[in-house]
Amino acid sequence: MHTEQFSYHRAESVEHAVELLETSDDARILAGGQGLIPLMKKRELTPDALVDITQIDELRGIERTDDTIRIGGLSTHREIADSALLKETAPVIPRTVAHITGGQQVHNVATIGGNIARAHPGYDYEGALLSAGSQIVVSGPAGKQRVPVSEFVRGPCSTTLAETQLVTSIEIPVLSGDRRGGYAKKKEPASGNAIVGVATDLLFDDDQSTLVKSARIAVNGLQGCAVRLDATENKLEGKQLTPDRLEAAAGDASSSLDSSAVLDNKKASAEYRLCLLEPQVQKSIRQAVGERTLYSQT
Ligand SMILES: Cc1cc2nc3c(=O)[nH]c(=O)nc-3n(C[C@H](O)[C@H](O)[C@H](O)COP(=O)(O)OP(=O)(O)OC[C@H]3O[C@@H](n4cnc5c(N)ncnc54)[C@H](O)[C@@H]3O)c2cc1C
Repeated sequence: MHTEQFSYHRAESVEHAVELLETSDDARILAGGQGLIPLMKKRELTPDALVDITQIDELRGIERTDDTIRIGGLSTHREIADSALLKETAPVIPRTVAHITGGQQVHNVATIGGNIARAHPGYDYEGALLSAGSQIVVSGPAGKQRVPVSEFVRGPCSTTLAETQLVTSIEIPVLSGDRRGGYAKKKEPASGNAIVGVATDLLFDDDQSTLVKSARIAVNGLQGCAVRLDATENKLEGKQLTPDRLEAAAGDASSSLDSSAVLDNKKASAEYRLCLLEPQVQKSIRQAVGERTLYSQT
């Protein structure tokens, strides 16, 4: 199927991209094109102009500045999955990316900026970014703005981005200690998107410790936006992690959620999604805990 006609513009810089977005009635940013082009071919989106941002160097790179990791908005899933810096400082992010489907073609071109800007509830980054305490850095006519991911995504496929703004980077705070990440996902067979995906970001003092200094656990796919699992986090934070405590924490996963907001559609019923939650939470925490020996409570 072919797209409707559109004009094509290649942006040379962030400022140039903003100018191009301002001068068109209905322009869309083109990054990896893995989400946008299929929608244009199906005529679900018919922009009159595309602003190609792929040549803007300042949107690339993953680096540490003081106590923050900056992931450029054009970083591909492959670059993020392979990043030694992220594996060490915010492992929940590369762990999550490993679950994105679509194979090499998608991983080599699709970008974190395009993924979070699309804000599809079945996409995997949002929960991981929420668990890692991330901010989305957005640029537009009024300059640069930092928006916590919990505020950036407003609902299914809806964000606070104005038509003249773009995601330039994602910032993740660096925490001192042994930070561990896990991600467990039940895929929807046709699309590979998450019916339920649980991202776990745990902090320990060192690689021998089982005392959880902080626990941030978020689920995507369950509701219109990713949500933190407060009850599970509270059961773990400040406590020694034992097998019993891990199971009890996972068992409490749905207790802090608004069950009326659970997605109920042809992909999966609300009941099925809620049934998947506890085992996926357990799996995700276990992956984050890794090789630590957990002793039973006496
Ligand atoms: C076969 C297949 C399987 C997939 N499976 C998964 C999966 O399992 N999990 C998952 O999470 N994702 C999945 N995806 C989605 C994919 O990972 C991409 O993240 C997604 O396609 C968007 O990234 P992109 O760079 O291709 O963005 P594009 O397609 O270029 O853009 C997507 C949308 O975001 C806007 N946009 C792009 N970049 C920016 C920016 N920097 N600032 C503001 N707006 C921007 C565009 O205008 C467009 O509206 C899959 C895609 C395919 C094709």
